Amino acid sequence: MVVVQTLWHEIISFLGISQIIEVCKTGDYRVLLTFNGILSLISPLIPLLLLIEIGRAIFYKKFKIEDYKMPFFIFVANRFISRFLSIAAVAFCIGLLEKYALIPTTMTWYWFIYGYVIWEFSHFIYHYFGHKIRLFWCLHSTHHAPESMNLSVTYAHFFLEAPYADVIRTSICILMGVNPPMLFLIMFIDGTWGSFIHVGENLIKDGRLGFLNKIILTPSHHRVHHAKNPLYMDTNFCNLLNVWDKVFGTFQNEKRDMNIEYGISREINPNNFWDVYFGELYYLWKDIVKAPGIKNKLLYIIMPPGWSHTGDHKTAKIVKKAFLEQEKAQPVPMTNVSAL
Ligand SMILES: [Zn+2]
Ligand SMILES: [Zn+2]
Repeated sequence: MVVVQTLWHEIISFLGISQIIEVCKTGDYRVLLTFNGILSLISPLIPLLLLIEIGRAIFYKKFKIEDYKMPFFIFVANRFISRFLSIAAVAFCIGLLEKYALIPTTMTWYWFIYGYVIWEFSHFIYHYFGHKIRLFWCLHSTHHAPESMNLSVTYAHFFLEAPYADVIRTSICILMGVNPPMLFLIMFIDGTWGSFIHVGENLIKDGRLGFLNKIILTPSHHRVHHAKNPLYMDTNFCNLLNVWDKVFGTFQNEKRDMNIEYGISREINPNNFWDVYFGELYYLWKDIVKAPGIKNKLLYIIMPPGWSHTGDHKTAKIVKKAFLEQEKAQPVPMTNVSAL
């Protein structure tokens, strides 16, 4: 009985409908017009879209259990520890740094815009280093392991990634004066949009979303981010406002004549939980052990993935440069280009 009850609570919590059930029980529907009420109506949107996406895939006989199995296992594995650590990390950073805030902000629309731009900057920093520092890539690569795109990918993260991301993002935002209530509101919007941009082609074929593609970061941009095609590697680090990708030169539009290949560039068994979850840490450890001298060992930890002490680097930057040079020398159709 306890098992059934726990499972029921888990399902309710995953669907984000606990507050709505509470409102139905009390019959006080005016609560839905309050700010918290509106948030409680938005929370179930992503799980609902995920169910629609799966339903459509089953209906059109395109459903493949492998596309959803691994993100589901990872979600279950992360369920408690990651969330707990993340909340603790956010609370710790706020408590530690709030008194050093550079500018005091209030809950007004213009400070909200300021807060959002700062948040995107902090997200860019965390995400950029998640790709460019090998140790942080070990935390982030689990999210890039799936070889197809659908809403379940939003749940595929290594359990230590959220605390790492939240320490960086919260610290920058609090130091730049974004006040905690505004930070939580931005985190909520960012979390909802950040999940939605993983929507699969089964549900929304063209992820550009019309004119929105020119103004904000769309599912199309994030599909590019998850691609291992050389041209697409290490691009589109932002989440909703892609202003910082444009500032730092990492912005990349989806090309209509290029098939996206999802996943990471090393050989991986995407259906093996251990490979998806710990594979990058295992290979980092192997490289550290075989590297000569303490300096090389440390460099493996902090240099970008693909860096080698032998000088035979296979970083995203080098792979992309080689691809562009080859393309310039003899333009080839860009379909089915494979990485590394
Ligand atoms: Zn990434
Ligand atoms: Zn993603």
